[in-house]
Amino acid sequence: MTFKMAILAAVLTLGATANAQQHENIQTPAQAIEALKEGNTRFITDNRTLPNQCKDHRKSLKKSQAPFAAIVTCSDSRVPAELLFDNGFGDLFVIRTAGNTVVDSSTQGSVDYAVNHLGVKLIVVLGHTNCGAIKAVVTSTGNDTPKCAHEASMQGELPTLIGKIADCIPQYKGKSESFDEAIMANVHAQSEKIAALPHVQAQMAEGKLAVVSALYDLKTGEVIFE
Ligand SMILES: [Zn+2]
Repeated sequence: MTFKMAILAAVLTLGATANAQQHENIQTPAQAIEALKEGNTRFITDNRTLPNQCKDHRKSLKKSQAPFAAIVTCSDSRVPAELLFDNGFGDLFVIRTAGNTVVDSSTQGSVDYAVNHLGVKLIVVLGHTNCGAIKAVVTSTGNDTPKCAHEASMQGELPTLIGKIADCIPQYKGKSESFDEAIMANVHAQSEKIAALPHVQAQMAEGKLAVVSALYDLKTGEVIFE
């Protein structure tokens, strides 16, 4: 190896180390929230460090994972959790559905897995501004089958999903003037559902886990925690 190559190798090694974000210092729900807030600040100020994204780190995770937080968020393509929290491989257990819901066994079971098996310290229900799923609820009319402004696209299982979200926030059906309020009401409703899960309750009682609500602003990139 030439001297130049040795220097390059040393720099690359240093870079990989600097980019590795360890979870050992995230042992409490409060520390997990702080880590997410710091990552989002890096994201919105264009100071991303892109931690835990190098090849070596990816390889180190091939046998196990220990994410510090679970994020229940929307499938919306504008809400990629790892990017907006400036995190990488192995950091976040992300459950994504249209409208960031836990209205069925697959999503609730995923939360249980994150809590029981992976030992996450925090669960964040993350809604976002201008959420199409919630828009479908607030523009819906009728009682059983939502007939929203996008009726032509309400095919297959989508009406069922929108109906389940509407059941969580029935007071906002047809209330398009309260769109922003409805988005947060849905976030709160999902947080409450999660907090009521027996395994989650047990961990919360011991102070090992917290469930928090948050909103991602599509325009500013900021995640506002409650
Ligand atoms: Zn959405």
